[in-house]
Amino acid sequence: MSKGRLGECRLCQKEKELCLSHIIPEFMYFPTYDERHRAVMIPKGKSKYEQKGIREYLLCDVCDGTIIGKRETYCSPIVKSIQDLRIARNGDQYSVSNVDYANFKLFQLSLLWRASISSAQMFINMSLEKHHEEIIRKMLLSQDPGKPNQYGCVMFVLDNVSQLHKIIWSPVKDTIDGFTCYRFLTGRIFWYFFLSEAYPKDVEDFFITPEGTLRLIKAPWSEETVTKRLAGNVAEKYNSAKDGG
Ligand SMILES: [Zn+2]
Repeated sequence: MSKGRLGECRLCQKEKELCLSHIIPEFMYFPTYDERHRAVMIPKGKSKYEQKGIREYLLCDVCDGTIIGKRETYCSPIVKSIQDLRIARNGDQYSVSNVDYANFKLFQLSLLWRASISSAQMFINMSLEKHHEEIIRKMLLSQDPGKPNQYGCVMFVLDNVSQLHKIIWSPVKDTIDGFTCYRFLTGRIFWYFFLSEAYPKDVEDFFITPEGTLRLIKAPWSEETVTKRLAGNVAEKYNSAKDGG
């Protein structure tokens, strides 16, 4: 863990020495590392590669290592098993059982929250409104995972990929059936976060349950469709960001 500068920890809000925290945890970059162990990401601006994923001075040691780090340690093997498709499949769904609700839900919330508070270019299209950021900060700090439909996350898995599993895309705000959502694509996994109690009815079954069942949807899109759509999306957002200043 790199140390360096004094500042206000974004999680506990105490004035402390801050460490360089990952926005997307390092274990999620594993499938994206190329042969020289550099993470491949989009957008990556010219030929700039990130050596260890994007990091930023955001959190104190306690928050980074204990509050966030503890969840990452727990979730890392689960997320990896999904990336590797070592999970149960039943028709158009996948499932993982015996998942600790609090650990996994808090991990999901930490992903959303970190991307939102980050000022890195990669997360420029991922900002929650301030009051949502604050609610999630308090949930993380008090280690309260909330109810399943509080910032619930629906996960899709692309089963047939040749390139996409090596890439982490810049997360974006999107809408589904008129509901705001925040979309991450890490390797073959899509994470769609919805605001509290505001989501299409049929997604509710796919929020992790307090009993510890995580159901995932087999993505109905082909890799080619996703690549085209996201590539267009990235170019569009990048251009509008440039035009806007
Ligand atoms: Zn802190």
